[in-house]
This record gives sequence, structure tokens and C-alpha cells, in this order.
Amino acid sequence: MPRLEDKVAIITGGAAGIGLATAALFLREGAKVCLVDLHQSDLDSAEQELGHAERVYSVAADVSNETDVQKFIQATIAHFGRLDVLVNNAGIECKPAMVHEQTAEHFDRVIAVNVRGVFLGMKYALPHLLKAKSGSIINMSSVAGLDGFGNMSPYVASKHAVVGLTKSAALEAAPFGVRVNSVHPSPIHTRMMRAIEEAMNPGHAKEVQSQFEQIIPMQHYGEPIDVANLVLFLASEESAFITGCQYRVDGGMGAS
Ligand code: NAD
Repeated sequence: MPRLEDKVAIITGGAAGIGLATAALFLREGAKVCLVDLHQSDLDSAEQELGHAERVYSVAADVSNETDVQKFIQATIAHFGRLDVLVNNAGIECKPAMVHEQTAEHFDRVIAVNVRGVFLGMKYALPHLLKAKSGSIINMSSVAGLDGFGNMSPYVASKHAVVGLTKSAALEAAPFGVRVNSVHPSPIHTRMMRAIEEAMNPGHAKEVQSQFEQIIPMQHYGEPIDVANLVLFLASEESAFITGCQYRVDGGMGAS
């Protein structure tokens, strides 16, 4: 039996990378999916790539904007009639620089998308899940949400904050049968990692990739599907007794 049959899921940052791979997997497992991303043109391309037109819906929105978040939660419920799963996946990288070289404006933007976005998603999804007394929220953090990494303090701070939000919401929601967990990937082959490599050493992205691969025990990046498989487990009833947890998907990085 499909693992998400008749479940309705919202996936933010769903037009690319990990979010798009998660949407494809959820659809394969019987879910109805609302993709949220910044631009309707990207969402249209994603919808075309995914197929299953009757089970896919999309809303253009910025997760850091409160009105937008209210809109996509309400629109999904109006369209599909219910909400079971929220994947707070949208996120942005930060400029590579030491703390004293970062600007306050850039710090604020990274926090706005990566932390405020997760907070707002939970704020407006939880009333529906708590009322239904079931549901699963999966917040996308990073290995940078568990360990420190130099030259990316705004991103590291934002992903650590996701852990605090996840644990707090999990404690509040647990008595209602609603679960909240976070996922912590190491470098994954997506647009974001390519942007980070290029920003760290313009014109030498391949060399930067090799350097990253040296700190991953499995010695290679993960693929979006590696993360999507974990998100599927946390969205499904197979993880019914798991909440408030941080799951690494990191090629062994956490072992050292
Ligand atoms: P990606 O850039 O390929 O996709 C992210 C998507 O989020 C894009 O489609 C983008 O348009 C969307 N997005 C960005 N800001 C948004 C906003 N304000 N509102 C709505 N949508 C927005 O990146 P990805 O690698 O698939 O990253 C997905 C998540 O995984 C992020 O939270 C990222 O921090 C996390 N992550 C990625 C890696 C990695 O190596 N790729 C590692 C650890 C964690």
C-alpha cells in the first residue's frame, strides 16, 4: 500500500532540489502535494516535470512573508480539503565570510527565510493539525544545524535555530498526536551547493567540491533523493512514535 495514500502535503521550496525530489517521492507514495516557491514560472516547470496533474497544486509565495504563508496554507486546504504534512524545506545559503565580514542585512535575510519561514509555516499549519489530532511537520535543517562551520555563521545560526523551533513545537504538539522532526543533510547535489562552491572560489567550483568531499566519510555528496527518502519516513505512519528528533543524512559526517 502506498505510504502516503490520500495524505495532503505542503512542500516549501518545492520547485527545485531536495523539495522537488521530495514532491516526486510523495506523489509516488500516493500523496496530494502543494508546491510552494518564489516564482510561478518555476512552479509551472516543476509541475510539468512531476506529472500527476490532479494531485499537484502550487502557490507562489515567499515563506518569510506572513501574509504569503497564511495564503498558501489556506489555499492548500481549500484546494485539497485537508492538511496532513508540512515540509518546511525552503532555505537560502549565506555569503562565505567570517563573522566580522558579514553584514547585518544579509544576516537578517538568511534568518528571515531559514528561521522565520519555518516559524510561520508551523504557526499557520499547526492549528489545522492540532484540531485534526494528527499530522507531521518536517523542518529542513543541515549538518550546520548541529555543528559549527567557519565562514557561514548566518546559515549555521539559522539552522541551529531550526532545531530549537522543532524541539519546542514537538513538545507542544505531542499530546495532540502531531509530530515535528528536523532533517540534517550534509552537502547534496543541488543548485544551492553549486552556488556555495562558486561563491567560495569563483571559477573553481569543482575544487571546492573535492575539498568538501574530503570531510565526508563516504567521500561524495548525497543526492536529493537520499534526503527525500528520510523525509518520506518522517511523513509516514512508520515514524508514528518519533517526534522532536534530529536526523542526519550525511554520509557519515556525524560519526567523527
Ligand atoms: P535549492 O536552492 O536547490 O532549492 C531551494 C528552493 O527554495 C528553491 O527552489 C528556491 O527558489 C526556494 N526558496 C528560496 N527562498 C525561498 C523563499 N523565501 N520562499 C519560498 N521558496 C524559497 O536548495 P536545496 O539544496 O534543495 O535546499 C533545500 C533545503 O535543504 C534548504 O533549507 C537548505 O538549507 C537545506 N540543505 C541543503 C543542503 C545541500 O547541500 N543542498 C545541505 C543541507 C541542508
